[in-house]
Amino acid sequence: MKKVINGSLISMYHICTCEMWLHANGVHMEQTSDLVYEGKLITETSYTQRSDTYTEIEVKAVYEDIPLTAKIDFYDVKNRVVYEVKKSDKLEQAHIAQVQFYLYVLEQNGIESPRGILQYPKLCHTFSVAALSTELRKDIERILKEITQILSCSQPPPALRKSYCKTCSFFDFCFIREEGLS
Ligand code: SF4
Repeated sequence: MKKVINGSLISMYHICTCEMWLHANGVHMEQTSDLVYEGKLITETSYTQRSDTYTEIEVKAVYEDIPLTAKIDFYDVKNRVVYEVKKSDKLEQAHIAQVQFYLYVLEQNGIESPRGILQYPKLCHTFSVAALSTELRKDIERILKEITQILSCSQPPPALRKSYCKTCSFFDFCFIREEGLS
């Protein structure tokens, strides 16, 4: 059975496919890290009145037998806008891809031209994510197939060996594994 693809996996695909594979296979390390705790805290405390106005929703879809699920914390039903709160804009491309995935799943549920807004309360910065174009939709579908292909492998892809690795909670796991393989 194909693995369910969610927003976190889409985001990780744009950062590190090895991290994505580990998550999808139940290896979760950063849940306990201070960084993730801080990120969650920012989401919960930055816009405290928001939950009165917006709705938390979970929508599902299927693309070519690939199950998709989008858990959206803040959705403006009336204006069809997804709000996503992030701590830092360092990985903005991954954040945009995550929101675009949410828009895709909403579209599959009959929502017409949803849009998104990324918010970085610590930086006082917002970024608008436009409604999907035909090309973007095709690109998302290509990525869904690629993710499914990666997740069907019995081993994770090779470690990235990028500066990002030093701050990643899987650092020890990845580099000890690579040494073992070499
Ligand atoms: S340590 Fe590097 S290769 Fe391993 S999961 Fe993290 S980012 Fe990816």
